[in-house]
Amino acid sequence: MSRFWSEVVHGLTPYVPGEQPRIEGLVKLNTNECPYPPSDAALHAIAAATGEGLRLYPDPEARALKEAIARHHGVPVSHVFVGNGSDEVLAHTFHALLRHPAPLLYPDVSYSFYPVYAKLYGITPREVPLADDFSLRVDDLLAAGPNGGIIFPNPNAPTGIAMPRAEVERLLRANMASVVVVDEAYAEYGAESAIPLVAQHEQLLVVRTLSKSHALAGLRVGYAIGQPALIEALTRVKDSFNSYPLDRLAIAGSVAALDDADWLARTRERVIATRERMSAALRERGATVLPSAANFIFASFPGRDAAALLAALREHKVLVRHFKRPTRIAPFLRISVGTDAETDALIFALDAILR
Ligand code: PMP
Repeated sequence: MSRFWSEVVHGLTPYVPGEQPRIEGLVKLNTNECPYPPSDAALHAIAAATGEGLRLYPDPEARALKEAIARHHGVPVSHVFVGNGSDEVLAHTFHALLRHPAPLLYPDVSYSFYPVYAKLYGITPREVPLADDFSLRVDDLLAAGPNGGIIFPNPNAPTGIAMPRAEVERLLRANMASVVVVDEAYAEYGAESAIPLVAQHEQLLVVRTLSKSHALAGLRVGYAIGQPALIEALTRVKDSFNSYPLDRLAIAGSVAALDDADWLARTRERVIATRERMSAALRERGATVLPSAANFIFASFPGRDAAALLAALREHKVLVRHFKRPTRIAPFLRISVGTDAETDALIFALDAILR
């Protein structure tokens, strides 16, 4: 397209904002946002931070936020890195820690940005197939040969299936020479976190976000927990891109959100209860629903084409997600857990379509 572009740009595609349509009244179950409003404490803190103080640059180290994250997880502040959403944290991770000649391992399927970042940073990927039950097996990762790093979401996306902490630990014991990144974007909804393993494993980096667990996707706050050597590498890369990745409102809001433990416990409980009700309702209608530890489910409807089902749901103003990949996941739809009313709307629409 442009003769001025560098080679890498030709291989990249701009984000198509189709998943974020600007139409009122849609039941939006396609991008795994939390269906409930953020904590009042977070909203008040953001309101309090607007005003004359915005004249000033934010704290480049976002120290107050790192301290809140350290409190939340019971880790030292020196183990915390923060960024503008976990997508940015992941980008810095690929750049600073995963650019090695040996291939980077990640599951097929997993988060769609991993191949994008691999391409952007000139990393050779090696996809490790999921097992027959769609789980990610440590033995399959270990059998993939020498690697320059390993990354996987836990729970995995879009399957929702979690790997037990004991298995993550087994992987770390067997893979000590390269960085292992556990992307815990959805971990608050039921996975065992790998954060308690960080103290013992210098090659482990756990990446988190406030987008799903704390209903703050609009604030763009993500972070990583790891030993200081990994955090230092990330900080060097981050500072070379942008010394101020987090603005004053993001810092103020996320500190208050992290400190509001009651809100998190309440919201997590509600989302999990609705997830289980939704899974049961879909199974009653003949669907195969994978066991989810996230705020979404991955479901297929025997005899139904997933793309056609997505289009039919869209007619009923219900948005869900389909991954157009010629693999075993092709018959599946990923459906975010909504409010109870949104879940009822989904079930109502399905009943009309499947009749
Ligand atoms: N990791 C996974 C597995 C995700 O699904 C997402 C959200 N799409 C992210 C990371 C990025 O989330 P955010 O940038 O909002 O923190």
